[in-house]
Amino acid sequence: MTEHRIPLAGVIGNPIAHSRSPKVHGHWLARYGLTGHYVPLHVEDGDLAQVLHTLPQMGFVGVNVTIPHKVRALELADAISDRATLIGAANTLTFRDGKIYADNTDGYGFLANIKQEAPEWNPASGPALVLGAGGAARAVIVALLEAGVPEVILANRTRSKAEGLRADFGARIRTIEWVTSGEAIGDAATIINTTALGMQGQPELRLDLSGFRRGQVVNDIVYTPLMTHFLTEAQARGATTVDGLGMLLHQAVPGFERWFGQRPEVDEPLRQAALA
Ligand code: NAP
Repeated sequence: MTEHRIPLAGVIGNPIAHSRSPKVHGHWLARYGLTGHYVPLHVEDGDLAQVLHTLPQMGFVGVNVTIPHKVRALELADAISDRATLIGAANTLTFRDGKIYADNTDGYGFLANIKQEAPEWNPASGPALVLGAGGAARAVIVALLEAGVPEVILANRTRSKAEGLRADFGARIRTIEWVTSGEAIGDAATIINTTALGMQGQPELRLDLSGFRRGQVVNDIVYTPLMTHFLTEAQARGATTVDGLGMLLHQAVPGFERWFGQRPEVDEPLRQAALA
């Protein structure tokens, strides 16, 4: 009698209390008048496998997965999308016919955010400079390469991690030293900060930012605060800036559509709901 069940979804992480995802999905459920609930689920490392196999029995149709479970969730899935395989992590799981389907929508969210906020952006117009080589950078780089950027210039404090991404993603990636990466800003058409620097509670990003100029598209995937020092400097020099909140909102779209059957809109009321 599963057809009479109220569809449930949620976000699994540890910690999870700070997650904005319940606000995002809750806003959409109310806006479209849909039956369903989306809840934060605090799950300890050792419990993930058991939780993922129990949730469908309780009416869960899927979950988002966040730190620290994104890599392990991929390992526990029965079927994995090409994108999640490339990125090496899952953020969206769908439970269907007794199986766990894993996908990664971070790269989709990143691209959809830039396309919405900077519609004139042309990925082919020049190299993209990516700062950082963590989990989010993997999703961003896969998306940039798929979108057709001619080259990704990659800088990370720990250079070996940048070299690892080059080994995984190929010849269109060029790694440079972190300390001199500010000098590469002027050479890039698209510049993205994927490090945690500039986020509330983290140090500022201290690179030479004088290379920002008109015609560039600059995105910070940090969204607390919305206007980071990085974006303020870019804006002051005439670049088009895109904040990180939209990536969080857009990455939620495919999961919501799969679980609740409605493709939701990312618009200003949703931004306000997520920030509330
Ligand atoms: P991660 O895997 O832990 O990677 C962190 C990155 O930041 C690494 O490249 C790390 O360099 C760099 N970093 C940290 N502290 C640094 C410092 N003091 N100096 C220089 N580099 C430093 O984290 P992540 O999952 O990629 O997330 C990164 C940021 O993106 C976080 O702020 C997260 O909230 C944000 N994010 C936003 C969205 C969105 O939807 N908008 C989605 C995902 C993530 P090393 O390798 O040298 O340590």
